[in-house]
Amino acid sequence: MSITIALSKGRIFEETLPLLAAAGITPAENPESSRKLIIDTNRPDVRLIIVRASDVPTYVQYGAADMGIAGKDVLNEHGGIGLYQPLDLRIARCCMMVAVREGYDYAGKVKQGARIRVATKYVNAARDHFAAKGVHIDLIKLYGSMELAPLVGLSDVIVDLVSTGGTLKANGLVAVEHIADISSRLVVNQASLKTKRTELQPMFEAFAGAIRD
Ligand code: ATP
Ligand code: MG
Repeated sequence: MSITIALSKGRIFEETLPLLAAAGITPAENPESSRKLIIDTNRPDVRLIIVRASDVPTYVQYGAADMGIAGKDVLNEHGGIGLYQPLDLRIARCCMMVAVREGYDYAGKVKQGARIRVATKYVNAARDHFAAKGVHIDLIKLYGSMELAPLVGLSDVIVDLVSTGGTLKANGLVAVEHIADISSRLVVNQASLKTKRTELQPMFEAFAGAIRD
């Protein structure tokens, strides 16, 4: 039986290559330069589909892919319905943080019980985080470049992923609160898990053995 794996281009694809190699899988083409959305591999029974990072859980949930690799940020927003999540692959690691303009008195605003405007792509994570703190917020959904929002008065704070902090710094922002450590997980369709266990199990084992630190 053939296996379809959903991946996104960029850092997830790059960091997944060593895991695929451990399972004896080599992509026939590089999705960064190829325009193909379905990529064959050296193994006739394995193909890759290249989708937007936030669409990976959806393809796997509906069984259009047997498995995929998605960030915890993406899985939290999707909800994880219908997905088996056997492994934290420890790739594409970063942190989800609250960030503000340099000089913005975040602690003071929170203490005053002020209503805070939050711009983010991660609305579920933001809602949960501020609800747990008892902070009232107005949520503004964005699809990218969250760093801009506090600079032009769209929001007081942003919830975004941070790795080095270079982008925040370049835009005069600072991280003020850590929400969660983020890494990517293997996600598997629950029906595939039953019908293709013989093919999938050795892949899980190979991936597990190739996880670093
Ligand atoms: P797009 O860039 O197409 O809008 P995206 O931002 O979700 O989508 P990527 O930037 O490739 O796609 O991020 C994919 C995943 O990598 C994210 O879901 C997250 O888990 C992780 N990630 C995002 N930013 C960083 C970062 N700065 N460092 C490490 N991992 C990150
Ligand atoms: Mg991105």
